[in-house]
Amino acid sequence: MYFHEYQAKNFLKKFSCPVPSGHLLTHIDQLDAMLLVMPLPWVMKIQVHAGGRGMAGGVKIVHSIAEAKAFAEGWLGKAFQNQQTGERALPVKAILLEPCLSIEQEVYCSFNMDRETAGLRLLVAKQGGMAIEELSPEQFLYFQIDAELGLLPYQVRRIAVFFGDIAFSKALWPIFYGIYQAFIAADAMLLEVNPLVRTIDQQWYLADVKLLIDDNAVFRQKELAEQYDFQQDLPSEREAQTLGLNYIRLDGDIACMVNGAGLAMATMDLIALHGGKPANFLDVGGGTNPEKVEAAFHILLSDASVKVILVNIFGGIVRCDWIAQGIIAAVEKTALRVPLVVRLVGTNSDIGQNLFKNSGLSIHSESDLDQAVRLAVKLKNSC
Ligand code: GDP
Ligand code: MN
Repeated sequence: MYFHEYQAKNFLKKFSCPVPSGHLLTHIDQLDAMLLVMPLPWVMKIQVHAGGRGMAGGVKIVHSIAEAKAFAEGWLGKAFQNQQTGERALPVKAILLEPCLSIEQEVYCSFNMDRETAGLRLLVAKQGGMAIEELSPEQFLYFQIDAELGLLPYQVRRIAVFFGDIAFSKALWPIFYGIYQAFIAADAMLLEVNPLVRTIDQQWYLADVKLLIDDNAVFRQKELAEQYDFQQDLPSEREAQTLGLNYIRLDGDIACMVNGAGLAMATMDLIALHGGKPANFLDVGGGTNPEKVEAAFHILLSDASVKVILVNIFGGIVRCDWIAQGIIAAVEKTALRVPLVVRLVGTNSDIGQNLFKNSGLSIHSESDLDQAVRLAVKLKNSC
């Protein structure tokens, strides 16, 4: 679960991290009042679930109220798109205003869950900011953080030396320890500060923060989860979420309905292997029922870029006849405008297949997954 910069910064404040004291603008009429609480110049930053805003004009230093108005008018109510968002356009509903910092150095710092070592890793770079993507691996310093010992002072001293001066460690220790504690407290997957800045008067600030928390921990992160901005998701994703479906829209054209995240990924890999592009990730889960399947199928059908639908169900907990019932009910309400390839194996697969047969729907049935995927890609190529 991804959070806005201002939300992440508010969270980090609780751990005594120095974040600039900003104000959130949601309507242009609020701008004049900002002058009373914060002298110019300001940095204005659109709040969207994506990074790389600086390069795309979403971050601006303004020296006058006229400049601020122009920026706010240009963004509020509009949508943001860049390389990171792909085809998605993220709605801009809020702009964070902060006093502009006079920067001497911008460094990069992130704590993340490292899958290779199944542990916490700290990664830093001396040149942070917008050029981070261009750095080579040698320009980063990283190390594991022992789960029992936590972050240790000597590690931060090493970072200070890497940043250019051991003397930085006095100021950096409480900052890094605060970020570390916040990471643990949030059940984070990623807590990135880029840039962490040193100002010309030798103060350190977390100028930009990205926070991603583990979806599996959302149940115990109520305070954060309540702040989640659903407007950043696509309507289809929001609908899927309320249904308890694990759905993510991708930019391909072969829609998939699968049970189990592992099987969903294997299916997507096979589609890619055979030259196709998946339109989505969809895990209908184990505890599904015909109503949920119907709703999920509607989501796939209503997506105009979908050219073929591939259903791949391995019936264990989930019953194949329920999947068939759900799909048939969905198609009865919305005509099936694209070819449908179905692979049903496991619990009640014979009943499911019979339901399809008797429904009069034109369905391509396959029992072998590889064959099913090949057929889906072929059908897509011929449409
Ligand atoms: P991102 O591009 O989405 O990661 O947005 P950031 O918040 O990181 O801002 C992009 C860049 O704007 C930073 O790398 C800084 O160079 C610059 N920037 C952000 N805040 C300030 C500020 O207060 N003062 C100055 N001088 N530059 C800033
Ligand atoms: Mn940044």
